[in-house]
Formats: sequence, structure tokens, C-alpha cells
Amino acid sequence: NNLSKEDVLRIARERGVELIHLQFTDIFGIMKNVTIPIEELERALNDELMFDGSSIDGFVRIEESDMYLRPDPSTFVIFPWKYDGVEARLICDIYNPDGTPFEGCPRNTLKKVIKEASDMGFQMNVGPECEFYLFLTDERGNATTITHDEAGYFDMAPIDLGENARRDMVRTLKEMGFEVEASHHEVGPGQHEIDFKYDDALSTADKILTFKMVVRIIAQKHGLHATFMPKPVFGIAGSGMHMNQSLMKDGKNAFYDPNGKLELSDIAYNYIGGIMKHAKAITAITNPTVNSYKRLVSGYEAPVYIAWSARNRSPLIRVPAKRGMATRIELRSPDPTANPYLAIAVMLKAGLDGIKNNIKPPAPVNRNIFDLTDEELKELEIDSLPGTLDEALNCLEQDSLIMSALGPHISKRYIEAKRIEWNDFRVYVSQWELDRYLEKF
Ligand code: GLU
Ligand code: MG
Ligand code: MG
Repeated sequence: NNLSKEDVLRIARERGVELIHLQFTDIFGIMKNVTIPIEELERALNDELMFDGSSIDGFVRIEESDMYLRPDPSTFVIFPWKYDGVEARLICDIYNPDGTPFEGCPRNTLKKVIKEASDMGFQMNVGPECEFYLFLTDERGNATTITHDEAGYFDMAPIDLGENARRDMVRTLKEMGFEVEASHHEVGPGQHEIDFKYDDALSTADKILTFKMVVRIIAQKHGLHATFMPKPVFGIAGSGMHMNQSLMKDGKNAFYDPNGKLELSDIAYNYIGGIMKHAKAITAITNPTVNSYKRLVSGYEAPVYIAWSARNRSPLIRVPAKRGMATRIELRSPDPTANPYLAIAVMLKAGLDGIKNNIKPPAPVNRNIFDLTDEELKELEIDSLPGTLDEALNCLEQDSLIMSALGPHISKRYIEAKRIEWNDFRVYVSQWELDRYLEKF
């Protein structure tokens, strides 16, 4: 939508909105929120609202903690679910007291790369495919890893809580302006996917945040817990967030060329080349948790190897069959724990690098990569994605282009925090170790 400040004020008053949630994310993509009453909305829209940023992860030190929230009027939406009164939200950018964009704000980071693309004449479109599990909660309301599908076998009741919850999610998303294209049960028991229509890069990042919020709230209303954890249960499918992406130029899809090989343009090939070149560093952002790497293993339709194909689903990048305006590439590595702003920023940055430096991708791999032997992989020079968060962070540090997309503020704090997360995991003694070693040694 193209709402102005005045529109937002008018609609909020007309609709009797009482509370407005001012939303933004920390560098890990966790949604934060400051709630104001309607009386404060005008001041907020005039960028006069200050908050203390010192307690937000990855933001600032105590001495420089005053930050301004600058709401983006186009993100205004009234929550369709009812609390006691009517509530709405606005997504905000974060600004320094001197009026400059705060470099610890991931939305600002994405805007910078979008600007770089538009200076080259490109506008990026992104369409995510977000997967998640719905689990039952226990008597205390805490999440379990028991799926309803499984419980369904023992339950006498034929009602599928999961299906009902998903229908309710789709309805709610539609009321909030999403164009939901498909929703279906995924491979895993209790696993679902809801796909919404592609949009420009910034709007899609905003929508991913909103999407996760809606899915969790509606699941809770149905007595379920929705989790976007990439691999919640060993041995069953993980949850990914495939990212379909394309570039527009002069109103046309710049990836499409009816005369090109596979009807793809040089720009499309360069974009694929750029993503492949920076794939390892990108993974530290698109797959940001210890658990992310338990999904990136063979056997569950998740990628492991850095390769592309127009035919096969096993590689990192797939080119779906649609051409014309729908020409796009699908990056299959991202998972829904990624900060959508940073994930899209680094993918776009890598693709633009491919275009600027005419990076050519290797030949496509049209066989199932997981059937290739180690010798064949070596012969075809097929490299793998990082196997752990630790490895991914090392790759990120060594990739100056991706580091520059994040900027010094975010990259430093991100890597510091993720190293601590990795180390916490590394020193932890898990059940697997006890099962394996306790009695044997
Ligand atoms: N769940 C798979 C993953 O982890 C993807 C399945 C699909 O192709 O949609 O990426
Ligand atoms: Mg899927
Ligand atoms: Mg897909």
C-alpha cells in the first residue's frame, strides 16, 4: 500500500484504533516492539519518538543509547484478531539522534543494498516459501515436539487441529493484505507451508516478519505451538525458507531472455554466479543457528552442495520452469530463523557482484547430487556449504563483499554473538554423547 502519514492517522482514528505497536528487529531478526496509545501516533509519525536502544541485542552501548523510531506509513495494518480494543502496527526504521540512519538497524542495511541495485537500474522481487511445524503444547502451555498428526492416530477425534489452524492463518494473512498463493501440508508430520506472492525486497522482508508473528499467534489460539526451528526433530524433514528471487529492469524481468540458453539472460547467469561465489558466507546469515546445520544434510530435500540446476531439486539453486515475468531463481538454503532483512541484503549483494564482475556460474548439475560419489564431486569441482555455524562464521569473516553489505557495526556484533552461541553448544554435553559413551567407556 502507499499510505501517507495523514492516511494512517485518519484510518486509525476512523477505525477506533487504541494501541499502535511500533515494530523493528534486532540484528538477529527478533521482532521488538514499543506500544503507544493513539494519542501519541501523530508524534510517532513525525519521528519524534525516542527509545533507549541499549538493552536491545546488537544495538548500542549505554553511552549512546538514544534512538529514534521512524515508522514507515506503508506498513500500517490493523490486527484482524481481537483483543479488548482495536490494535495496529507500524514497522520502523531506526535513526540516530542526529537524523542519520542507525547502522545497527537491519532494515536500513537492506535499504542500502536496494539502493545499490536501483543505481544499477534493478529492482529486486522476492517470494519466500516458509515452512514450519505445529506441535502440541503440554498442560502448562509449553511447547512439545509432539505433532498433532501423530497424536491423531491415538485420538478418537477426527478433527485435524493443524489443518484448522492453517486455514485460520491463511484467512488472517489475507485480511492483513497478503496474497496467499498456496498452503499445504509438508513432508513431515505436523509440518506446513504457506506461500504468499512475491513483492519487492523490502516489503517481502517486512512480510516475513509479519507472517511469523501471525502464524505463532494463530497457532496459539488453536492450542498449538508453531516453530520455525530448522530441524526440530531428528530424522524427519527440516523447515526451510526457500527464496525465489528475480531482478526487474524497466518494468521487465531482467532474468528472462527468450533467446538465451534455457531462456535465461546473461544477468540471470551472472546473478547465479555471484550467489554461488559467496554462498558460504551468505550461509552464516541465511542459516544463523546451531540447529540450522542439522537441516543442511542429505536425505531431506535440503541442499548440501553448491550447485545449480534447472531440472533437479537437490542443488542449492534451482531455476523453476516458469519464464517471462515469472522467471526467477530459487535459493534453497535459507531457513526461517534468518533475519529476513539481512538474508535478502546479502543475497542481493552477491547477485549484484556477479553482474558487476560478469561472474559466470559453472555448468548446471542435472543429476541428483546426492547420488554422486566423492570422486565425481571432486571431478565436477562441486563444493559444499559450511557444515556448522562455526565454519559458516569463518567463511563470512573471509568474504569482504558480504561483510561490507552488513557493515562494520552489524557484522562485528553478529559474529561476536554467534561465536558465543556456537561455543555454548560446543561445550554442552548432549544426550547423544551420553548414549554413545557413558556405558562404553
Ligand atoms: N523441507 C525441505 C527443506 O528443508 C524443502 C522441501 C521442499 O522442497 O519444499 O528445505
Ligand atoms: Mg516446501
Ligand atoms: Mg521450493
